Parts: sequence; structure tokens; C-alpha cells
Amino acid sequence: MTRDINEKDIHQKSEHIIKLNETFKTIRYLASYLWPEDNFSLKFRILLAVSLLGLAKGVNVSIPYFLKEAVDQLSANTSDLIIVPIALIAGYGIARVLAQAFSELRDAIFSKVGQRAIRLAGLKTFKHLHLLGLRFHIQRKTGGISRAVERGTKGIEFILRFMLFNILPTLLEFFLVCAILWYLYGVIFTGIIICTLIFYVAWTFIGTEFRLKYRRAMNQKDSEAHTKAIDSLLNFETVKYFGNEDHEAERFNLALKGYEKMAIKSEISLAFLNIGQVIIIALGITISMIVAGYEVEDGSMTIGDFVMINAYLIQLFLPLNFLGFVYREIKRSLADMEAMFALTSQNIEIRDKPNAPSLKFKGGAVSFENVAFNYQPENSVLRNISFTIRPGEKVAIVGPSGSGKSTISRLLFRFYDVTSGRITIDQQDIRDISQESLRGVIGIVPQDTVLFNESIYYNINYGRPEASASEVEAAAVLSKIHDFIKSLPNGYDTNVGERGLKLSGGEKQRIAIARTILKRPKILVFDEATSALDSVTESKILTSLDEVSADITTLTIAHRLSTIINSDKILVLAEGTLIERGSHHELLKKNGRYAEMWHHQRELEKARIFLEKKNQSEAI
Ligand code: ATP
Repeated sequence: MTRDINEKDIHQKSEHIIKLNETFKTIRYLASYLWPEDNFSLKFRILLAVSLLGLAKGVNVSIPYFLKEAVDQLSANTSDLIIVPIALIAGYGIARVLAQAFSELRDAIFSKVGQRAIRLAGLKTFKHLHLLGLRFHIQRKTGGISRAVERGTKGIEFILRFMLFNILPTLLEFFLVCAILWYLYGVIFTGIIICTLIFYVAWTFIGTEFRLKYRRAMNQKDSEAHTKAIDSLLNFETVKYFGNEDHEAERFNLALKGYEKMAIKSEISLAFLNIGQVIIIALGITISMIVAGYEVEDGSMTIGDFVMINAYLIQLFLPLNFLGFVYREIKRSLADMEAMFALTSQNIEIRDKPNAPSLKFKGGAVSFENVAFNYQPENSVLRNISFTIRPGEKVAIVGPSGSGKSTISRLLFRFYDVTSGRITIDQQDIRDISQESLRGVIGIVPQDTVLFNESIYYNINYGRPEASASEVEAAAVLSKIHDFIKSLPNGYDTNVGERGLKLSGGEKQRIAIARTILKRPKILVFDEATSALDSVTESKILTSLDEVSADITTLTIAHRLSTIINSDKILVLAEGTLIERGSHHELLKKNGRYAEMWHHQRELEKARIFLEKKNQSEAI
């Protein structure tokens, strides 16, 4: 039992230390925005803002003094000159205006620092997200991520602004006022203020820590709701196909309800926290005023002193009230930033080796040597795969669905690293060269083409952004899509819709082919690149592609065997192993798996043609 408690205790303590470490890390990270290396103008801005802050606080502290003098002058009735108290009141007014004006100027000058921090943190996260591997992106929940980044960057700005302009200045003002009151009236008022502050801070700290769990739960539920909403809207068609609108609404509602429940708890606890804070401050002020009242009564203080103490206390405790809010918000922002930092600290799965050289391209010989691969440790997808494609050779991979064909192209592109064995291009292991140079030479037309929600021109041009308009058109001509584009009212400016959904599957595929042609890769990979096309268009494109890829190493993954019979070599993959290899004729002669697939497809083709003819004659 004792051991259990000790272990729990130790666990809690170590968790606490980890959290503290995280907070320090965050503060260090934020500090880098407050004092950016090599940015003189920004440092100057920050110094200016801090000076304005000092001025504002200095003027602020003088305001109650003007008030005291004016009250004393008015109540003494000694002078016939009304001009003195009026000058003091005017001074009081001017000091108030100046204090506010300095604060506003400070905010205006600081805004560039805050906004720059938001931009840089957002950019850093965005870049990091693009560095993370395919494994992360397949599992990611887009809605949740965008929410975490949005909240995190806002949190950064909040913390920067309030740390610098709220917590530090309030503390500064606090010490100034304590010093003035101690100097003028002895220790009593300073003592009351310090006691009030201790109670206030303790209450705020305990209350805020208690409430933080609601905030974390709210964030989680909010991200969950956002993820569900985005996922559901992206799959709009599927929702309609199955008439599942109510089901989707219910899932969304469930996540929102979770948020609602936590938000209510958070607000109720906030009300208690606020009430406690108000009581503590009211007690502090009341006790001070009672003491001051006695002192006025026995003549050791003037009415002006009484007014000044009151003004100081209100001036001090008002920001203190605000400080409670700021502390809560800072904790909240830290919680928000945690989620964003969790993204930026996600391990980058595929990294370049330090100072990895670029690929030295010598013709484009691709070689897989005893490659084995599994996505998860428990099931192996590829086993002992060895093959070589000589420079300029055309090799095809065929095999049943799920046998690992696309996985081979993903490994070549280094979306994942092989589990064992190695892949080389021109005798260089692809893990030893920079990813940029590797991916620069490979052009892939993937199985599922997804386009950006931009114009057709933008999507083709994406293959090589610096290409000229005539090069874009030439690529479109080669991929047999130019005439179609020209027939559209807006031509190349036509928007393709979310993920390219305004186009047919075949049109999307042809745009994908055009953009890969435009990239002018030195190694081409077609992953069922023409599967969505009718056979006439397919054969036209294949002729074009033969032209484009005449001297280029080409790897084609195909289901329809008729499209790859001219390949130099055909590899037959089944359940992750290569079971046959050779040219079309050699494989037919072997009378193995390939021959079986070929005859089967021929039978299907014959049956299809027969049915088509029959339907035509029946129609006549
Ligand atoms: P198809 O002809 O249907 O496109 P394929 O031969 O190209 O199939 P792959 O996409 O390479 O097959 O997939 C091979 C196996 O790996 C399949 O069993 C698939 O379920 C599995 N797989 C693919 N991607 C992942 C992934 N990201 N995580 C886990 N398993 C995966």
C-alpha cells in the first residue's frame, strides 16, 4: 500500500517536472521571438515598446498624487487662489490621458512583433507537417490539425503580449505603489496589500490549475468535432450515396455535446474563481480604508491622503483582477500551444543523412536488392524483392490486387524506408542521397489522382512551376487533354473543384499525366495511370507516352495486361514476392501465373465484345 502511494507520488512529481520543463521550453521558444537574432529593427521596436510601458506606468503612479494634492488644497480652504487646485486637477486629467496614450502607442508598436511571431510559428508548423512522412499523413485528422495550429498560434501572440505588457508591468507598478505607501504611511498599508496579494495569487493558482483539465478536454472535443465536420464534408458524396446525413449529424452533435458539457463546467468553475477573487480584493480594500478612516479621524492623515490611498488601491487591484484573467488565459494558451508543439515535435520518419549528397544521375539504372518491407511489424508486405531496370528500359509490374505493386513505387520514391535490403539508382543507395534530388528525377502518375482546387492551368503547371504557357499546352497535347480543355468555356482557367471533383476520372488522370510530363523526370512511374480511360483514348496516350519516355527508365504498374505487352521485362508479383519475370512472350511460353492471367483477361475481353455486338444487333 505504502509502496503504491509512493509510486503514485513519484509518478505525479515526475509528470509535474515534465510539465514544468515543457513550460520552460515554451518560454525559451517565445523568448526567441522577443529578441530575434539579426533583426535590429525588431529589437528597436521592442525596446521602444518597453520604454513606452515604463513611461505609462510612471505617469500612472503619479495620478493619485495629483488627486491627493487637489483634494487637500480644496478642503484646506486656506488659499484664495483657486488656480492651484484647478492646475492640479488639470494635471490629473493630463496624466490620465498620457498614461493611456503611452499604453496605446506601445500596443501599436508591438503589434508587428506579435504578428510576426504568429506568422513564423504557423510557417514552422506548416513546413514541419510537410516534412512528416506519408505514414503520419495517412493517419492525420485534417480538421483537428488545422484547429490545433490555429489555437496554438493565437496562444503565442497572447502570451507574448501579456507576459511583456501585463504581468511584468503590473508587478512593477505593485512594487512602486508599495514603496510609495510604505514611505508615506509606514508598513501598515503595504502589509495589507501584500497579504491580499498572497491570498489572491494562491486562490487564482489553485482555481486555475483545477480548471485546466476542463480546458484540455474542451480542446480535445473541439478538435474532434472539427475533424468529424471536415471529414464528413470531404466525403459529401459518400454520405449522400448511403443517405447517412442523420448519422453524420449525430456524430457531429455527439462531439459538440462533449464540448458543451466541458464548456459549461469550465464556465461554472470560472464564476466561482471570479467570486473568490472579488471577495479577496474587496476585503483588502475595505480593511485598508477602515484603517485610513481611523487615521483621518485621529488627525494623522488628511482627506487627501485618504483619497490617494483609495485611488492607489483601486489602481493596483484593478489590474490585479485582470492579472487573474491573464494568468488563466496564459495557462489556457500554454495548453493550446502544447497541442501545436506536439505536432512540431512529431518525429520526422524519413530524414536525409547529414550533408547527404545529391544523386549523381548516370542514365537511371534502378535496382531493388533483396528488399523486404512491412507497414506494420506484424504483417510483411514485400519479401525478398530483387530486380534491376537498366537505363532507358521499360519494366512492368503486374499481379493481383493487394500484392504490393504500389508499395514498390512508394519505396522507390522513399515515402517509406525499406525494412531490409536496399534500393539503388545508378548504384547509389537512395537512403544516402538527398530526398530532394531523388524526388527531382522521378515522375509518378499515381493510382488516385487528386487535384488542387485551382484552375486546370495551375494543376498542370504544378509539375514545373517555372514552365512557360506553351510548355504547359504541349504537355496537355501529349496527354490528349488539350482539345477537351479548349472546348471548355473558360479553357485552361477552368476551376477543377475540390480535389478535382468537377472532372471525370479519365480527365483527371490525363491532367496528372500532363503535369508529370511537364516535370520532365528522368525516371517515370505509372501506377495504373490509364485505368480510368476508354481503350481508344488509352491507346492514343500510350503512343504519346512511348514518345515521351523513349529513352527514359520506366516502371509501369498495370492491371490491364494488354497495355504492357511491349515492355522489355514484366515482373509478376503475388503476395509480396516476385514469382515470374520475363518478356510477354517468354511468360506466355512458361504457361505459369502470367499466362493464366493473360488468358483470363482475353476471355473477359472476348465476352465483353460479344455482349456489345449482341446488344447492338438487338437494338437494330
Ligand atoms: P492494387 O492493385 O489494388 O492497387 P497493390 O498491389 O498496389 O494493390 P499495395 O497498395 O502495394 O497493393 O498494398 C499492398 C498491401 O499493403 C495491401 O495488403 C494493403 O492493404 C497494405 N497497405 C498499403 N498501404 C498501407 C498502409 N499505409 N498501412 C498499412 N498497410 C498498407
